[in-house]
Amino acid sequence: MSLSLEIVCVSCGKQSLVRREPVYDGFKKVGEVFVCVSCGHRYEQEADVPFKEQRAARVFTEADRTKAVDVFAGDEKGRNCRHCVHYVVNPFVQRCGLHHRIVEATDCCGDFTRRGASDTSDESDESDGSSG
Ligand SMILES: [Zn+2]
Repeated sequence: MSLSLEIVCVSCGKQSLVRREPVYDGFKKVGEVFVCVSCGHRYEQEADVPFKEQRAARVFTEADRTKAVDVFAGDEKGRNCRHCVHYVVNPFVQRCGLHHRIVEATDCCGDFTRRGASDTSDESDESDGSSG
């Protein structure tokens, strides 16, 4: 009776266990179903049960997993406030230090200045001696 009943349930997605339950037609037992103890999902036959051992041989590859990360990688190109030097995070609110207003991390701003590793401020205020 040491049959492993560990599953990865297709209904609730959890690592769970199945419980055998007899199926009766009237008073006659006609078979068994397998019930997820976590969510109660019924597997009508043993072939349908996603036993954990079988799922170990997955068809998914590492390449499939990295696709999910690409969604966030694209954010790096955006001019969102979260990447801006003026973006200030408080415990309660996120603010724009330049406009003194409440912003969201995903807001866009015309005065966006990327928060970079180094602050190179040598492109303005050259004294050129023009008349004023
Ligand atoms: Zn389940």
